[in-house]
Amino acid sequence: MKAKDYDFIFKVIFIGDYGCGKSSILIRYCDKIYHEYAYTAGRFDFKFHTVKMLGKTIKLQIWDYNVDRRFNTSLPTQLRPKDGIFLVFDITNRKSFNSVNGWYETAKSSISSNTPIVLVGNKCDLESERQVSYDEAKELADNLNIVYIETSAKRNNNIEAVFNFLTLLMINS
Ligand code: GDP
Ligand code: MG
Repeated sequence: MKAKDYDFIFKVIFIGDYGCGKSSILIRYCDKIYHEYAYTAGRFDFKFHTVKMLGKTIKLQIWDYNVDRRFNTSLPTQLRPKDGIFLVFDITNRKSFNSVNGWYETAKSSISSNTPIVLVGNKCDLESERQVSYDEAKELADNLNIVYIETSAKRNNNIEAVFNFLTLLMINS
């Protein structure tokens, strides 16, 4: 398909600490598989995915960066107002949750005020290892005025749902 065949072309980026499952979510969504070792080779990886929603054909350009927030104070790429962001943490790793505010600030400094952001709590299949409660994450998301959704790339829980949700937000932003 050519660019003119799409109603929308959106860029989607993943941010969040190393190891929280960003690459696994991307691979689960685009390739329908799960690898125990989904590490990003090099500085970034990207995939295209076409979705049909509300009678529209939408091309998602999904970027998976390996960014260390300690050395980067801005996003690794320019986003347009209608692009979208997944801010991911690992529900079994409190440190990754503690980083959410910092990632949010990093994002906010480089985007327009209505760029959609979805907070994703990944690895919800590991309930017995949970370090961050649903309510606590939901409260943080509410304070940031963004949506919170829990996923499992491993069990394929809510993966389509988070992408559909972000896509709807981008269409309507
Ligand atoms: P990234 O650094 O954020 O891209 O994280 P990766 O996608 O490379 O995942 C880091 C590790 O967590 C890998 O060993 C994955 O297999 C594992 N992982 C990712 N998603 C899940 C999940 O939903 N459940 C479980 N149990 N493990 C996961
Ligand atoms: Mg990765």
